[in-house]
This record gives sequence, structure tokens and C-alpha cells, in this order.
Amino acid sequence: MRRAEVAVVGAGAAGLVAARELLREGHAVAVFEKSDRAGGTWAYDPRADADPLSLDPGAPGAVHGSLYASLRTNLPRELMGFSGFPLAGRVFAGDPRTFPGHREVLAFLDAFAEESGVAALVRLRAEVLRVRPLGQGQGEEQWAVAWRGEDGEVAEEVFDAVVVCNGRCTVPLVPKIRGIDKWRGKQMHSHNYRTPEPFRDQVRVLCTLPLISAGWKTRYSEDRLGKIELYQNVWLHAEIDRIQDDGPVQFAEGSAVSADIILYCTGYRYHFPFLDFDGLTVDDNRVGPMYKHVFPTKYAPNLSFVGLPYKTIIFQSLELESKWVAAVLSGRATLPSEEGMVAAVREEYRRMEEDGRPKRHTHSLWPEWVEYMNWLAEQVGEPQLEARRRDMYERALKCIWSLDDRYRDRWDEEEENNGGDCAPQGSIC
Ligand code: FAD
Repeated sequence: MRRAEVAVVGAGAAGLVAARELLREGHAVAVFEKSDRAGGTWAYDPRADADPLSLDPGAPGAVHGSLYASLRTNLPRELMGFSGFPLAGRVFAGDPRTFPGHREVLAFLDAFAEESGVAALVRLRAEVLRVRPLGQGQGEEQWAVAWRGEDGEVAEEVFDAVVVCNGRCTVPLVPKIRGIDKWRGKQMHSHNYRTPEPFRDQVRVLCTLPLISAGWKTRYSEDRLGKIELYQNVWLHAEIDRIQDDGPVQFAEGSAVSADIILYCTGYRYHFPFLDFDGLTVDDNRVGPMYKHVFPTKYAPNLSFVGLPYKTIIFQSLELESKWVAAVLSGRATLPSEEGMVAAVREEYRRMEEDGRPKRHTHSLWPEWVEYMNWLAEQVGEPQLEARRRDMYERALKCIWSLDDRYRDRWDEEEENNGGDCAPQGSIC
């Protein structure tokens, strides 16, 4: 088995589990983390960017994290552990709830990093500035990693392989609303939302819902528009059509409202400021060409990405992607030829087009997430996704889409009473 010297960029959940799997496979690992602690997204940062829309990801002091103070997980803890190191059944920071607050997840990740031996390999305050191939593609080259340490000095080191785990929930995706230049109120992206206090005296806040793969029309059909019964002060409108000449926001279904703030909850865009070479692009939020969301076809297997796909059980997917990378690097698993991977990617894009799925949803695994997880598992000799976990995830999604956020506290009770249907009497589910 080949033993590679591997650089991992980022020490969030993806980087930590990637490092563990690389170690288990016998590789040598260095993890570069630009902040002063591991945990990535789960290390709550009370600061927000000076620009409420965070339009310049390279702005000095740009904040990485997008969590708000009161955030609890949207998946049950059983779906947020790693194999051999579960989050369920144990308490890490005094929060035993099925859907814990962010501190619990961070403490879990800290403990995971310690127990797996990865913590000792994380270089903190080490920002990767540039990653470049020392060759012409074909997967044979080594990689030069330039990074800046705490003292401001820049060093360059050579590795056999690089695994990119820099996170996908940091750089806001801000849609251009027709007529936005006429908007006189405030605008903000959810990346910068921390607490509700600053919004207290606002007359109306417009939150745009994340437009996830299935499309809002499927989930929030016309008959659900209007006041949401569960809340005193929440109305659901169709997508924003434009800003009217005199200021109000016009919705696609015809109504219009005046508001103080537009709060964009429109998701994030992939951003790799340290990668700049031929054969790898980010176009309309499609990172490509990328074989199965992990290996860029031109640079596989020595350049890989863990954490691009979403709409799946994220932690489990991170682990399977990591196992696959580690196994391919050691030679225990094999990839098709470059031509074979390119053909597979082309076929995937063709199918997306045929199904009418926009390019920006390339890395959304919905609805074929189970197929993807099982495919990964097969590559590395892991068992197929358990039906129980599949059902649990689909139940959680249904609850999230119901807009009834009481589901977190009702989850266990409902499982006991009705086998886990999240649609309680009177809810809008
Ligand atoms: P991150 O956690 O973002 O980690 C990336 C790391 O890379 C960071 O530590 C960063 O500092 C570092 N880095 C970046 N650039 C560089 C560089 N150039 N050099 C060195 N280091 C670098 N998932 C769930 O499973 N359940 C949930 O309930 C859930 N809720 C969420 C709620 C919110 C508001 C958000 C934003 C995300 C949520 N997620 C949830 C998804 C979450 O992104 C994943 O759980 C997970 O944290 C992703 O880990 P990651 O390692 O890919 O990215």
C-alpha cells in the first residue's frame, strides 16, 4: 500500500475526519487551520463582517463562521457522529438534547480530534495561501502548499497529496433582485445574523428562504402562501419578483410589502482562493469537473475535496468521502482513467440538464442521496446506509421543511407515540 504525505486544508468536521481516515490508512498527515482552534463552522463566532452582505470574501478579518447564538442542530445527534465515535448516547458540553446547541457539537469535535490523534497534527493559525501542482496534471504530480503562520512568515512545503476541506458555508450567495438599486432599506445575509436584538424595532424583516434543490415551489406550493398559523407574525410569500419603483418588494404571486430589511437566507458559494490553475473551475456554484464530488478529473487522485455535497447526512458523507480519498491514495481503491471520469461527469451533467436541475445545484444530492452514500460505501467496503438512518434523515428534512421548529423538542415523544411522523395535528407539515 502506498503511504502518502498529505496536507489537509481546514480543521472543521471535514478536515478532522479526513485526517482520521488518512491516518487509519497509514498516510502521514498535516492539517492546516487558519483560525486559532479546530471545529470550523461549529466554533461560534459572535463577530460578524463589517459588510452585512459580505460581498468581498477576501476582506481583511473576514469571519468564517455562520452560526447564530441560539442555533441548535437541525439533525438529531444520532446523525451527527462518526463511526466509532458517536455523538448520540454521550454528552460533551452539558447539553443532552436530541438536537443540541452548537457548543455541544464543538465539544464533540474537540473530543473526536483528541481521541483520534488528529488534534496533535493540526497546525493552528496556519492559513493556506496557495496550492499548486508541481507537474502537468495526470495525477502523478506532487503539490506545493504555501502557508502563512502566526508570525506572518510564509513557508512552502511539498506534499504528495492535498485534501481540500475549507468549508462551504462561509461566502454568501446573494441573488441579484430586479430593481435592488431602488431599495432604501437594509440588506443582510444570514452569514452575519447572530442574535435577534438588532431587529427588535424593525417593522418588517423579509427573510428569503434558501432555494434548495427540490425548489421552493415543490415544498411551499401556492396553497401554503399567506400567514403561517404557527406564528403570530410570519407570512410566506412566493419568490421576490422585483423591487417596485417607490420601494416596496413585489412578490411573484402578486402581492407587495414595504419592509425595513431584506435578510438573505440564500445559501453560500464555493470559494477556493488558494486554488488557481487550469482544469478546475467554479462556475455558477458548480465545482468542476469533479468525479463524484470528490476528485477533480485532471488532478485525481492527489487533489481531492471533502465536503462539497449537501442534502445528505453530512457527517456520514464527510466520513465516507474521506475513507474513499484515503483508500484511493493508498491504492486500496481505484479510480477510472481520466477519460472515464470525464465521461462520468459529462453524463451526470447531461442528466441534470434533462431533469431541469440548475447548474448551481450540482452538489446537492437530493433526491439521489442514498444512492450516492451507498456508492461511496461500496468503494471502500463499508456497509450500505441503514434504513433506520435513512428514515431518520428523511423525517428530519420533512420537519425542517414544515417550518415548524418545535419538531426538535417533540421528536422523541413523537417517535414513541406515532413512530415518528413529524406532522402533529394542526401543523402545516
Ligand atoms: P467548516 O466547518 O466550515 O470548516 C472549514 C475549516 O477550514 C474552518 O475551520 C476554516 O477556518 C478552515 N479554513 C478555510 N480556509 C482555510 C485556509 N485557506 N487555510 C487553512 N484553513 C482554512 N450540518 C449538520 O450536520 N447538522 C446541522 O445541524 C447543521 N447546521 C448548520 C447550521 C448552519 C447555520 C450552517 C452554516 C451549517 C450547518 N451544518 C449542519 C453544515 C455544516 O457546514 C457541517 O456540519 C460541517 O460543519 C461542515 O464542515 P467543514 O469542515 O466542511 O467546513
